[in-house]
Amino acid sequence: MKVGVARETAPGERRVALVPEALGKLTAAGLDVLVERGAGSGCLIPDAAFTEAGATVLPTETLYQEADVVLRVQKPSVDEAARLRSGQVLIGLLQPLLDPGLMRTLAGLGVTAVSLDAIPRTLSRAQTMDALSSQANVGGYKAVILAANAYGRYFPLLTTAAGTAKPANVLILGIGVAGLQAIGTARRLGAIVKAYDVRPETREQAESLGAQFVTLKTAIDATGAGGYARELTAEERAAQQAELNEVIGSMDVVITTAQVPGRKPPVLVTAAAVERMKPGSVIVDMAAGPLGGNCELSVAGETVVSPNGVTILAPDNLPATMPAGASQFYARNISALLLQLVKDGQLQLDFEEEVTKATVITHGGAVVADAVKQLLEPAAPAGNGSAS
Ligand code: NAD
Repeated sequence: MKVGVARETAPGERRVALVPEALGKLTAAGLDVLVERGAGSGCLIPDAAFTEAGATVLPTETLYQEADVVLRVQKPSVDEAARLRSGQVLIGLLQPLLDPGLMRTLAGLGVTAVSLDAIPRTLSRAQTMDALSSQANVGGYKAVILAANAYGRYFPLLTTAAGTAKPANVLILGIGVAGLQAIGTARRLGAIVKAYDVRPETREQAESLGAQFVTLKTAIDATGAGGYARELTAEERAAQQAELNEVIGSMDVVITTAQVPGRKPPVLVTAAAVERMKPGSVIVDMAAGPLGGNCELSVAGETVVSPNGVTILAPDNLPATMPAGASQFYARNISALLLQLVKDGQLQLDFEEEVTKATVITHGGAVVADAVKQLLEPAAPAGNGSAS
């Protein structure tokens, strides 16, 4: 079976789905690896490195023609999707819930679409396939590095002949995978770190990494399904914002990572909170995107400076800014998923198996994932109970 690695074309995307070090496991499983010319260029991996590792480098058209399975990081563009053919398998972070229309197109083409972001994350044997976690980890690290870079002072306590620099006070909002990595990284840089989340279980995790957990008087337990948070009610949100405003005012750096699956990210840093911060303070909003962010003033993909001198960064796709490190982890994730779907060198989908069932979105000309099917169904006709 031939496995092709596609070159990413989304703006700013520099990752690649497989790195040369990851090829050994796939070739040992009897798979031939093909690589689209220039696929590694975003992370400065030359084609020759793939060839040396046992892959065949091919021009775009030949790769799409020959590959039985196409591996990628991001979902394909319209043009890339049009290159796919019936019976081919596509694996990547396809975001089927955000782009169900693309899933319908892929189903129509007879493509089997497998999405890494649909992995059942709480299943322990699926942890090696959890690309959402591996990439959030990269993002949490890089957010702290960006914050330290934008902050005009030191993170650690520094005593020198020219005087003493106080350590930075850093607040991490949202203690999921990215938040935990951000705590660890900020601590390693010597900052004093506080952290807050609406899931009480995160207190112990934050403390074990050396952060002080922020406890609000309005005790909110918003533990939702699957280890995620639920959306807060309007009252909870107002109480949380009011109390957080006070904490945020005394911080030098705030890094926000809070997300609620399928919802707009919660606003945790209001414009009023930014106003309370000292000039020179820095906010990195990791949740910023088309739906909004955790900071009321952040502009997705941009850096803005508030009238009182607070720099607010809202970086897009942080993992792509560390392409080699992020791709190394991603390659491990996608290889583990692929090997789970392959038996005796051939793809064998067992829909009774949990990972296969969760990640295969289209197959046999149809959308098979229930959540995506529901999004594609036309809205039910309005009830006819009203009097005419
Ligand atoms: P996420 O990106 O969905 O959210 C980040 C954090 O924001 C979460 O901790 C969430 O509780 C928090 N948050 C949401 N609303 C908030 C609010 N209003 N105020 C403050 N914080 C708020 O989360 P994630 O990083 O993808 O991780 C989600 C969960 O999945 C975690 O419990 C994580 O440990 C778990 N997980 C488990 C496994 C596993 O069991 N193998 C693997 C990966 C992740």
